[in-house]
Amino acid sequence: MIKELERLEKEARILEPSKEDRLAVREEVIRYTEQFITDIDKTNAYNETDKKGSDIYSYPIKDTPIDIKKAINIFEKNVDFPGLNPASGGHLGYIPGGGIYYSALGDYLADITNRYAGVFFASPGAVRMENMLIKWMGEIIGWKGKFGGNLASGGSISNLIAIVTARDKRKITSKNIAQSVIYASPHQHHCLDKALKIGGLSEAILRYLPLDENYKIIPEELEKQIEADKKDGLLPQLIIASAGTTDVGAVDPLAEIGVIAAKHDLWYHIDAAYGGFFVLCDEGKEKLKGIELADSVVMDPHKGLFLPYGLGVVLIKDIDALHQSHKYQANYMQDTLGIDEEPSPAELSPELTKPFRGLRLWLPLQLHGVKPFKAGVEEKMLLAKYFHREMSGLENWEVGPNPELSVVTFRYLPKGENANEFNKKLVEKIKLDGRVFLSSTLLDGDKFVIRLAVLSFRTHKHTIDLTMKILKEKAKELESK
Ligand SMILES: *Cc1c(COP(=O)(O)O)cnc(C)c1O
Repeated sequence: MIKELERLEKEARILEPSKEDRLAVREEVIRYTEQFITDIDKTNAYNETDKKGSDIYSYPIKDTPIDIKKAINIFEKNVDFPGLNPASGGHLGYIPGGGIYYSALGDYLADITNRYAGVFFASPGAVRMENMLIKWMGEIIGWKGKFGGNLASGGSISNLIAIVTARDKRKITSKNIAQSVIYASPHQHHCLDKALKIGGLSEAILRYLPLDENYKIIPEELEKQIEADKKDGLLPQLIIASAGTTDVGAVDPLAEIGVIAAKHDLWYHIDAAYGGFFVLCDEGKEKLKGIELADSVVMDPHKGLFLPYGLGVVLIKDIDALHQSHKYQANYMQDTLGIDEEPSPAELSPELTKPFRGLRLWLPLQLHGVKPFKAGVEEKMLLAKYFHREMSGLENWEVGPNPELSVVTFRYLPKGENANEFNKKLVEKIKLDGRVFLSSTLLDGDKFVIRLAVLSFRTHKHTIDLTMKILKEKAKELESK
């Protein structure tokens, strides 16, 4: 037995590389990432390839190792090249991602030390750090006093946590679900429809509200509907608004909806996954007025604070409700419960073991201060306005409403050709070109429009100028075909 232990130890100890081996591997990783950042402005936002990374299968997981050079080579060719490059400032589709450097270093610190931020006693400092960040985010949207929240993997899970909390607080059960009414915008993010389904609310009545010409909820229509539903003996429960829709970046009239929600006693949820951090600048703050009235809010630091993917935040005013929906009891966890000096994240979310996400936000906020983040979101809003202004002055381009935050919709009006078909081809052509990436959506049922969404910290005026140049170029090519 002793011999066997010695043999196993020797083999298993390879998992703790020597200082020299760590250095050698680290240097290769740093070399690659430094090159990546140095080249990023010249790197495509999208690469179309034949193989789409399928050579990854040529290197199956085996008993024997490969070296770091080989590993990075496989990664570079099969993973880092094909498809969308979300780290590029030319990513102007969907809602762009970020990837600020100090956040990656925060992850590095968190991963090496592997602190467990799930329960207070295990890492009181980590839990305090996360709670402090939650407090900071609540405060920037104007929340005061006691509230809670959770650092989750993204907006989808954060929205799910909010929906489940609302469901339980409103006591929606099998007894009343068929009479329970949820009000939402048809432009709400699909993850909310998913959350309603996963949260067991499929059998509730989901009312998609009519929108105004800027694709926003019309408060009067909401109230009319609530009153009609009450009259019919139904139970209005929940209203979901968006602070920045994915389609067009519209902010619903948050303050007016808040008044209606309070008057009729509804849970008020705001999905600000995309737009929430615009509150950091004055104009954004003005546009998001009323967000402070919500019972729950979702914001995505991996969007508006330019973090690498993997951080969404849910904020809930009634922390006891959040706790009631997510607390647990297990014999093997008996020594972790009952600590109330600080709320433990594991009792406020579906997750138990989770990465220590606080550090990836705390480190960049501390190292940069908030000022460059404020400038960043303000710059993105102004870039969208700039694009809107420039495009509006061009012939044959139809440009959507003034951007509320940082999304602009537009399309080319070709002579004698179907506009939908033409713009579909145009988006495809831009994708294949690869220098910038734009996505599209359908408005008013079947109007195909191209979207420009500005949110990468690497997108600046030169990116927008390049985009307009490419748009003109490609439209001309298509026209002359
Ligand atoms: C991105 C987004 C989501 C989903 O968040 P993930 O972080 O992608 O899970 C939800 N709502 C809106 C408005 C979004 O833009």
